[in-house]
Amino acid sequence: MNKIVIILSLGVCCLDASTTQNVHITHEWGYPNLEESEEFQNWGGDCDNGRQQSPIDINFNKVLKGIYPKLIFNGYNSIAGCNIVNNGHSIQLSSFPQEMEISGGPLLASYIVEQIHFHWWSEHTLNNTRYPFEMHVVHRNKKYGNMTQAMKFKNGITVLGILYHYSNVGNPSIENVGKALNDSGLFNLINDPRKMNRLVSMKELIPQKIDSYITYEGSLTTPLCSEIVQWIIPLTTFPVRMNEILPFRKIENDDGKVITNNFREIQKTRNRPLIEISENIVSSSTKNDGLVSSPLTFFVLVCFVIPCL
Ligand SMILES: [Zn+2]
Repeated sequence: MNKIVIILSLGVCCLDASTTQNVHITHEWGYPNLEESEEFQNWGGDCDNGRQQSPIDINFNKVLKGIYPKLIFNGYNSIAGCNIVNNGHSIQLSSFPQEMEISGGPLLASYIVEQIHFHWWSEHTLNNTRYPFEMHVVHRNKKYGNMTQAMKFKNGITVLGILYHYSNVGNPSIENVGKALNDSGLFNLINDPRKMNRLVSMKELIPQKIDSYITYEGSLTTPLCSEIVQWIIPLTTFPVRMNEILPFRKIENDDGKVITNNFREIQKTRNRPLIEISENIVSSSTKNDGLVSSPLTFFVLVCFVIPCL
């Protein structure tokens, strides 16, 4: 078992201590080495006893229909020059050159990007299919000054979870994050952030247009597994080449063991609403547009003009 002895930080998925409050609880947790057929550990607390845990399988037979305003993204451009760190359980990017802000969709506030990290293989699955790679873009509600504050509230955090599929089409930004690991020799440097001098573009990391996605209420996927996350999982997956993921699978934890995989096992949905959005409200007049376009309204209108049976 890859065990990581850390001073536990309140983490969203994988937060580093620089952006979070230290709880000063020494605790061991880690991911099983699946190549050695190791088993998932119990992490304790909400991780074991929570009722809204993440990640989950997204079963399309059980999703509910939702229509929300469009998601709005501002500032999701190049993030070259940010920090990159091996935090002992993932590779994480932070301290971005500009503010990146998401609003709209199911969100009732604006959220700004605090950090980005990666999971190999994916944490969420779609109809029980696991993807090779998942990126978590962790946002904090702008009305809270920092992550510590934001993490006290149900509406404090939203995470955009991007799934990647294997392809012959490469992803230059994922490739460059992998090259940055080599540049700085981050494989065995734990919690030692370096400057990212490779070009990484958010446009290559997340879909340009997110018109269809799943949203649900869940938790952090690492201890303390706090149930404060509004998840947004776009249904458009992104390409990545197999060899672009290989550098991530070489990083080590602070026991010096290679983290071959860093996903948490699937949690129970427990009848939580999983909402699928495949169309958006486009303007304030859409309410009327929506009514006119509904089949029932069309039927009523036709029958008003031409008597129906
Ligand atoms: Zn995560």
